[in-house]
Amino acid sequence: MIIGSHVSFGSEQLLGSVKEALSYGANTFMFYTGAPQNTMRKAIDKELTIEAKKMMEENGINIENVICHAPYIINLANRKDPSKWEFSKNFLMQELDRCDELGISYLVLHPGSAVGLAKEEALKNIKDALTEIEKKNNHCMILLETMAGKGTECGSSLEEIAYLLEGFSHMGVCIDTCHLNDAGYNMQDFTKFLEMFEEKIGLSKIKCVHVNDSKNVLGSHKDRHANIGYGSIGFETINKICHEEKLKDVPKILETPYVGTSWEDKERLYPPYKYEIEMLKKEVFNDKLLEDILAYYKR
Ligand SMILES: [Zn+2]
Repeated sequence: MIIGSHVSFGSEQLLGSVKEALSYGANTFMFYTGAPQNTMRKAIDKELTIEAKKMMEENGINIENVICHAPYIINLANRKDPSKWEFSKNFLMQELDRCDELGISYLVLHPGSAVGLAKEEALKNIKDALTEIEKKNNHCMILLETMAGKGTECGSSLEEIAYLLEGFSHMGVCIDTCHLNDAGYNMQDFTKFLEMFEEKIGLSKIKCVHVNDSKNVLGSHKDRHANIGYGSIGFETINKICHEEKLKDVPKILETPYVGTSWEDKERLYPPYKYEIEMLKKEVFNDKLLEDILAYYKR
């Protein structure tokens, strides 16, 4: 199983990300090349990148399985203000160049939100941007993420994702278990979901799985991630998805919330990934997840 989590890309850039991933017992990871909510970016440091790659090699992390996530302020769907749309498109192009510089092969993108536009027009705007971006011929491939359908989000149905992908050869999909659940796709019957995906899009397009439980019920259109086994999808189902034979070569990335000293406490937060990864490797639910995380980080 290729499994890791979201990690930070701090002052040590990719090297810091690798160190953090290794501290969780992960063999892959996902990062943003800067803060996800803004567009301030530091130049990629060549030395740190070389060191990071060396550390990956020494620890059995294949860079082909490492994922980058585009900042969520990018919105290719809305073109009411053409300068904003241009900005989003150009910023995404810049992120792809940064990924190429780092040697990263996949960049996950939220397709966008229609905000006031008709769905058809919004989807068309996304396609227009992607068409221009494709002409740049980056090595890094964009992965469209399946969304929960919160607000006016595009890409919450397989039909919409299929429409967006049509005509592009160098583009894939990142499925997110929480988003799919919230969009109304029942993860309990994952076999049926995969059949549907194969028919509408093709399983070979899946290049990444975001592994998250959901704080809300099937079809809620909410998008609030829960820790593995502590949400409405449940450990059994998520474990099955992680060990699904048809997706065995696809990286699984956790984006579950950090935990406080209690499930309610949000003051001091600790990463849950070390213990969630362990649980999915062992294939046994840990009903003392919070206690284990706190015991480890507060020692
Ligand atoms: Zn996700």
